[in-house]
This record gives sequence, structure tokens and C-alpha cells, in this order.
Amino acid sequence: MNILLLGSGGREHALAWKMADSPLVDRLYCAPGNPGIANDAELVNLDLADSAAVAGFCRTHGIDLVVVGPEAPLVAGLVDALEGAGVACFGPSQAAARLEGSKGFAKDLCRAHAIPTAAYERFTAAVPAKAYLRRQGAPIVVKADGLAAGKGVVVATTLAEAEAAVDLMFSGGLGAAGAEVVIEEFLAGEEVSLLALCDGETAIALPTAADHKRVLDGERGPNTGGMGAFSPVPLMTPAHEQRAMETIVGPTLRALKAMGTPYKGVLYAGLMITADGPKLIEYNVRFGDPECQVLMLRLMSDLVPALVAARDGVLKNFDLRFYPQAALCVVMAAKGYPGDALKGSVIGGLKEAAAIDGVEIFHAGTKREGDRILANGGRVLNVCAVAPSIEVARERAYAAVDKIRWPEGFCRRDIGARAIKQTARF
Ligand code: AMP
Repeated sequence: MNILLLGSGGREHALAWKMADSPLVDRLYCAPGNPGIANDAELVNLDLADSAAVAGFCRTHGIDLVVVGPEAPLVAGLVDALEGAGVACFGPSQAAARLEGSKGFAKDLCRAHAIPTAAYERFTAAVPAKAYLRRQGAPIVVKADGLAAGKGVVVATTLAEAEAAVDLMFSGGLGAAGAEVVIEEFLAGEEVSLLALCDGETAIALPTAADHKRVLDGERGPNTGGMGAFSPVPLMTPAHEQRAMETIVGPTLRALKAMGTPYKGVLYAGLMITADGPKLIEYNVRFGDPECQVLMLRLMSDLVPALVAARDGVLKNFDLRFYPQAALCVVMAAKGYPGDALKGSVIGGLKEAAAIDGVEIFHAGTKREGDRILANGGRVLNVCAVAPSIEVARERAYAAVDKIRWPEGFCRRDIGARAIKQTARF
């Protein structure tokens, strides 16, 4: 079969790497892709916002399945447009993608179906929002309702910080995403990402993963798209996982089906493991980046039939196998990230780094110029490793990082430390 993968990050490189291995695939295309993905797929220059152009490419190239990586085209309705044009897609419809596209929608769904999550209220104006903040007190979390490229959440430790976030959002600081605001209770605990393949009715949980969101070691500094990830997550016991599937993922699928907008695709539940058990922090309607990288490294089964089964609504009785090994991913970013990152610096040593046992390097913001690889974004490389334990995976990944010659880049040096601490505790 012929597949078109959409996106250009480390997540899409991991998906392309895994799908390229499938004996079912004749041609694998990726739009727009990146130089790493070019090793696994033919790159195509398509504007993901132009659904007619994507559908046209699918017709002329006999595409049997489109796999949508990032959230923006899902929330914009690309799957509806392509399916309407007769092209099979892996990913949720626009209506189902509201789980990520509108935090207020997701929270109301939780409230209506008693799904455990932080207490919250929705606001469309600053005055009542601030009155609510004053009643609740800090710490408290202020969230823009819409998609804000990871910048829409402020975990405020003081009331002043929370009020400033409300002012920023209502003054248009985040564009249309901040026209409505959700204010919610601060949840204390450890964060875990639980991803499940869904076919509208059935959900198959993938192994647990966790990412490191803050830019600096020791979980300090501003939030980022993710500076690293690991899988499995030691503190997420099978009992926690079963409870999260029964109290969060299951009721969400049933609710969306009852609304006439069944959820198909991968559902990412960002969880806080609190003293009262797992609670939902947020939904994403696609694979997490960098969680996807560690999950693809652990996936033993062919990914392609799983994606087709999810799209076709036949996941019941489907089986996915995973390697028991641990996987870890260190993100290398260009200096300046998550602010303005320097572009155009030259990256060396990639071959030597990738030659280390168990190491796989996925590209994100890179660009090829002749035979040189240049930095071309904030998060640039995903240096990943598989090993019998998180400790060894971590050693391998950092040995690879140390082979990469890129003075203009940086990474956290403590990826996986949380997992190692958890192993000691559990
Ligand atoms: P999100 O973009 O919704 O994933 O939020 C970004 C990060 O903010 C999350 O990964 C958490 O670390 C943090 N966060 C979001 N909501 C809460 C909450 N209610 N309590 C504590 N931390 C939160």
C-alpha cells in the first residue's frame, strides 16, 4: 500500500522510520518532512492547510492511507476533508479533535461524564476570571482555550502571576486561542502520558511514557514542547493504568460516540498521578512529541495494520506487541529555545553518534545543505536509545549526544532521572 505521512518533526521521523519497516508498504511519502525522514520516505512539498492539494496528491499517487502527525491540521478538519474526498485517514475528525482544540470542551466533557480531572471554570472576560482567581488563591493554572503551540498554559505560583496570565490572554497575547480561558485547580503529583489507539469504540493502551517539559535540568525554566522522554514509567502501575483506562479513556470514547463524533486515531491522555489516583490534565489528539519516539522504538508489531484497523473501526481483538526494553530520548535544541532559536548552525558527528549500540537519531528542525545538516528550528534532534534498563538507555543516549559536534545546541543532562528516582521508590 501507499502511505502519505504529514508533518516534519521528530514524531514524524519516528513514525516514518517505523512504517518504512512494514512489509505492507510499497511507497511511503512524507509532506513536508525533514532530512532525517528523507532516509525513510519520499519528501513531498504540500501545504497541510490546503486540503484540496493534499487530496489531489492522494488521488494522483494512489495513496491508501494518510497519517496525520500534528494537531493543527486535525483541529482544522483535514481528516474530514480527505475522508470526504474518499481518502482513508488515520486521525480524528474535526469534531473529535475538539478534545485538544478546545480545553473548555474537554473539561465540560469530563464534568458531564464524571471523568477525574482538576476542578475548573471557563471565562470570556477578565473581571470574573480575576474574581474567581482571588476566591481560589494560588497555586492555580490558567489556560487559553484554543491551540497555542504549547504556550497557552501558565502554572501560576502567585495570584499576581495568574492575573498577569489572564490579562495577557484577554488582551490578545495568544491570538484567538486566548479569547476564552479555563482556570483550573493545581494538581500535585507525577505526570505520565498514556496514549491509546482508538477506533471509535475500542482503545488499546500503548506502554506508558513521560516527557520532561521544562527547558532546564531539575524541571526548572519555562515549559517547552518537551526536552526528552522515557518509557516505561516505573510509578505507573498496571492498577493505575487500568484505572485510567476505565475512568478516563473509556468514558471519553463512549461520550464522543454518543455525541455522534466517534474518536478514531491516537488519544493522548496527559495524566497527573495524584494521591487520589490518576487525573486528566489534558487531552492531545495525536502522538506526543517526544513520547512517540520512545514508543516507536519499543513497538515490536507492524504499526501500519494497527493504524488501518483504528481507521476501519476493527481494533477489537487486535494485538500490539512491545519490546520489554526501556527507551529514552534526549532532545537537542538550538540555543535560545524555547524563545527565538538560532538557525543555520552546522551539526557534525551524527554518523558516529548513531553507530552506538541501541542508538537511533530522529531529526526534527534540521535542513540539508549539500552534505551538511544545519539547525533549522527550536527542537532540532532527538537522540534516542533502547536498552535493558532506563539507566543503560540513558548512558547510551548521552554517549551519542557527546559525539555530536554542535556548539550552538544544548540539551538537558538529566533526562530519565525522574524514572530512576521512581524505580528507587516503587
Ligand atoms: P498542557 O499544555 O495542558 O500539557 O500543560 C502544560 C503543563 O502544565 C503540563 O504538562 C503540566 O506540567 C502543567 N499543568 C497543566 N495543568 C495543570 C494542573 N491542573 N495542575 C498542575 N500542573 C498542570
